[in-house]
Order: sequence, then C-alpha cells, then structure tokens
Amino acid sequence: MKKTTFSFEFFPPKTSDGIEKLRETRVELAQYNPEFFSVTFGAGGSTRDRTMDTVLEIQQEGFQSAPHISCVSSSKEEIRDLLKTYQERGIKRLVALRGDVPSGEVSAGDFKYAAELVEFIRAETGNQFHIEVAAYPEFHPEARTPKADLMNLKRKVDAGANSAITQYFYNADAYFRFVDQCEATGIHVPIVPGIMPIYNITQLARFSSVCGADIPRWLKMRLEEYGEDIDSLRAFGVDVVSELCETLQAWGVPSLHFYTLNRSTMISKIIENISEK
Ligand code: FAD
Repeated sequence: MKKTTFSFEFFPPKTSDGIEKLRETRVELAQYNPEFFSVTFGAGGSTRDRTMDTVLEIQQEGFQSAPHISCVSSSKEEIRDLLKTYQERGIKRLVALRGDVPSGEVSAGDFKYAAELVEFIRAETGNQFHIEVAAYPEFHPEARTPKADLMNLKRKVDAGANSAITQYFYNADAYFRFVDQCEATGIHVPIVPGIMPIYNITQLARFSSVCGADIPRWLKMRLEEYGEDIDSLRAFGVDVVSELCETLQAWGVPSLHFYTLNRSTMISKIIENISEK
C-alpha cells in the first residue's frame, strides 16, 4: 500500500499561551513529516494578522506553511496585498475559500464565490501558488442540489485549483461516491479527506449543524451515552476515526488532512493506530 501523507490544520491562536501550546503541538506533529501545516483565516479578515504571523513562524521553522484565504467581504486590493506578502515570504501553497459572513453582517466585497478568488489568484500570480479549495462529500449546506455543488467544485478546478480538501465526514461511502462523481464530471485533481477527531460531542454537534457534516445516528447515540466521561468518549472517538482512516487508506486516498483544533494527542494516537498495520 502506498504510504499516506498527512497535513494538519490550525487556527491562529489569540493569546501568548495559545501560541506556546501551538508550538508544542507542531513539535509533536512534525514527527509525521507533514506535507504542510495550514492556518485558517477568519472570514472578513478578522484574523488576518494572526494568520500571517502563525504562517510565517511555521515557515521559519522550515515547514511548508499554507495560509487559508477567505474572500467574502474582502476587496481585490486587500487580497492583492496579502498575496504579495505571501509571495515575498516564500509561501508556496494557499487554501482558497469563500468563508461565511458572520450572522447579522451584510456581505460586501469584490468576491461572491471561491471560484472567483481562485481565478483572481491565478490572474495575479500565475503559477506561483499551489491552490487548494474546499470540497463537500455530503454537500455544502447552501448548495441548491448535489449536482450544483459538484459543478461549483469543477468551476474552482477549472479556474486553477490544484487539489481539494474535504469537509469532514464519518461516512466513507459518501466520500467514495463523491470522488467517483468528481471523476465522471471531469474533476481530475486529488480530493483529500478532511479528518475531524472527536474531542467533544457538544462542540462536534455545533460544528456539524453549521457545516452540514452528518454525524450518523449510531455514532451520535454512542457518543451521547458517554455523558461527562470525556476520556472514554475520546478513546471511542480514536477508535472510530482510526477505522475511518484505515478504510480511506485501503481505498487509496492520496493523503489525510487533519482538523487539529491546535491539539495533537488524539491525532498522534490515530496516526500510530493506522501506521501499525
Ligand atoms: P464556495 O466554493 O464559493 O461555495 C459556497 C456555496 O455557494 C456552495 O453551496 C456552492 O455550491 C455555492 N455556489 C458557488 N458558486 C455558485 C454560483 N455561481 N451560483 C450559486 N451558488 C454557488 N472558512 C473560513 O472562514 N476560514 C477558513 O480558514 C476556512 N477553512 C476551511 C477549510 C476547509 C478544508 C473547508 C472544507 C472549509 C473551510 N472553511 C473556512 C469553511 C468555508 O469557508 C465555508 O464552508 C463556506 O461556507 C464555503 O466556502 P467555499 O470556499 O466552499 O465556497
């Protein structure tokens, strides 16, 4: 079996404590030779400076570092400035997204959808960056139809995206069928599964209700049964997610992208589990 590669996603920490903890997380995860570490970007530019600081620190440590850029509420000028800085600092990979407008705010800006951002990045910077985009095996909550969502991914790839990272999922079949459909639609780029470890049921349910990722009934009920017993819940979560990763590996996924929430312990256990075989 071909060796799976890994990438890890962080959010930019707010406090000096958070910055220190993230450094420790990186040291731990670096042992798995990640392809890159990516850093999220608050829609509307709310984390602009913290994202950049985190990305540049990772870059200085000698790792490939990929900033996310979300375009909603941003002007072309703002995105152009950001791209220029990243180019000057030797960044080679970007994750290009639309982002979500915080509730109550009106979206104003030069971009409506991520495909327009990808097109803009290519027009401004040619082939300087490897561009990742988001993909949704269980479909984006705003998509009119599954087909419309697939065609949106195709537009992003046709605009110049090199690969896609998926929203997390716990149903491998949804991913397999999605990748087959992508192939049939003429989307021929790697579609890397996004993997969300299970840290906490309340938080997971909240994320899932926003992003449309399904928590299967059996899984939700088993997790709820653990109640306050967080250690047992996490041990069970490691089992479930390790099995998901093994299934994906056996199918031949190119790579796994972990949503770390800036923590390493559970991810290390999952990677150790799937590397033993
Ligand atoms: P798009 O590809 O633009 O799609 C958004 C919706 O619009 C979809 O429903 C699509 O079908 C629909 N659509 C697209 N084009 C059209 C059209 N022409 N007409 C009608 N409908 C259309 N968010 C952040 O704020 N910061 C981050 O750092 C971040 N990182 C992420 C990383 C990954 C790997 C993933 C999967 C998501 C991430 N998100 C992040 C969340 C993401 O911003 C949201 O899911 C957002 O709602 C959609 O972003 P997108 O890039 O997929 O948008």
